[in-house]
Amino acid sequence: MTERRYDYDLFVIGAGSGGVRAARRASEAGARVAVAEESRVGGTCVIRGCIPKKFLVYASQFGEAFEDAVGYGWSYDKASFDWPTLIANKDREIARLEGVYRSNLEKSGVELINDRAVLAGGHEIELKRTGTTVSAERILISTGGRPNPHRALHGHELCITSDEAFELEKLPEKVVIAGGGYIAVEFAGIFATLGVETTILYRGKEILQRFDMDLRRLLHAEYENKGIHIRCQDVLGRIERKSDGWLRGTFLGGDCYDAEQIMLAVGRLPNTEGLGLEKLGIRQDKRGSICVDEYSKTNVEYVWAIGDVTDRMQLTPVAIHEAMCFVDTVFCGRPTKPDYGSVATAVFSQPELGTVGMTEDQARCDIDNLAIYKSVFRPLKNTLSGRSERMLMKLVVDADTDKVLGAHVLGPDAGEMAQLLGVSVKMGVTKSDFDRTMAVHPTAAEELVTMYKPSYTVRKGEVVEAA
Ligand code: NDP
Repeated sequence: MTERRYDYDLFVIGAGSGGVRAARRASEAGARVAVAEESRVGGTCVIRGCIPKKFLVYASQFGEAFEDAVGYGWSYDKASFDWPTLIANKDREIARLEGVYRSNLEKSGVELINDRAVLAGGHEIELKRTGTTVSAERILISTGGRPNPHRALHGHELCITSDEAFELEKLPEKVVIAGGGYIAVEFAGIFATLGVETTILYRGKEILQRFDMDLRRLLHAEYENKGIHIRCQDVLGRIERKSDGWLRGTFLGGDCYDAEQIMLAVGRLPNTEGLGLEKLGIRQDKRGSICVDEYSKTNVEYVWAIGDVTDRMQLTPVAIHEAMCFVDTVFCGRPTKPDYGSVATAVFSQPELGTVGMTEDQARCDIDNLAIYKSVFRPLKNTLSGRSERMLMKLVVDADTDKVLGAHVLGPDAGEMAQLLGVSVKMGVTKSDFDRTMAVHPTAAEELVTMYKPSYTVRKGEVVEAA
């Protein structure tokens, strides 16, 4: 494929979800590929993100399941939970998955180099531990990101981030989580349902800024029903260690709060430090993310970047999609731009949130006539159990074209529903398509196809007709 001027046709820096997929696909397309990883293979998603997080979510859901079981005739003497057992089991499974990633690379013919790789100038890459230099015709940077340590905060070094939360030796009695995004909300649900007194501290007006307001409000209310304290429009001013080992956080408002752990979940930073980007003059934005064009190419002709090291959508499936588009474009002669339209996503809060497409507020800005279909109800399962938790389904519809612009769910299995709603919305589903779809009964999801009348309509941003 390449004149043998270089050691490799493609050198990938970073073996996370995106890097591994690109390396394997390029190798399967006939390229000589190496991937370097200084840490564990699998990246954020497998090692310290999506997968271990989901294990913690599953673990934390059993407490409520035991409570609910009583209404269904079950009784039990005493259920107890052991955090170290969970962490050990989680670690064992993550180690197994890492092994699978390694063997998949091997099976695809990719050379895995366990070393820190940095750009050395031109087409050369320096491997720090061995001190050797290799060359590649093309280079792909997929080094991902890491939690923002929030260095501007006095006492930030006393806090944990999600990285450490996965490794805690014991569950704290009391935790404060700073931030109101995915990670803050997911970990608040995990900690609280495992019995930790939990506070979310968010600088904005309502948690989960990028999501539909109805879901944000209902999740807020349900979190408070679970005993989670949510303090909005405030931030931490400083943190100190007390003599008893606990932490004291002083809010900018002036008052103090003591907690055993304070967790920072205030976004993630791209892993670009010390990568040697300046040697090639690779452009970065002010956050340090690598700037790329629509095909994930940097301003240097033979260097590309994908995943969280670029500032696009920080989601595993998006990084994988970018990887596949990169290989199609560069190694398969099929120029393909990543498609960021109607990306479905889930927040593994409790209750779960699943969503695709426009929020009502976004649609109000762009679309003249909207019909909003909304249903808030107590799922069937919660009747015998006596649980008061509600579920919310919402469709945002363009009233002129009948097109469903956004579908939003808060409640059990919302993430699973979002995956399927994602297919329909991507295909351009109309509200009439929902109406002529037979319900699957009795399910919670059937509510999505039985909301026949709009709850209200919106004209040029204003509600004109409320049900
Ligand atoms: P998010 O961008 O989701 O949230 C960051 C939060 O921190 C926001 O609430 C933001 O406030 C707040 N914040 C930022 N800077 C400061 C500051 N200086 N002081 C106080 N608050 C601040 O990031 P996360 O860290 O939660 O997650 C990173 C990314 O990882 C997510 O964006 C998501 O793409 C991905 N992820 C996906 C998951 C999933 O798919 N289920 C799960 C976990 C992560 P504001 O809203 O005002 O900007």
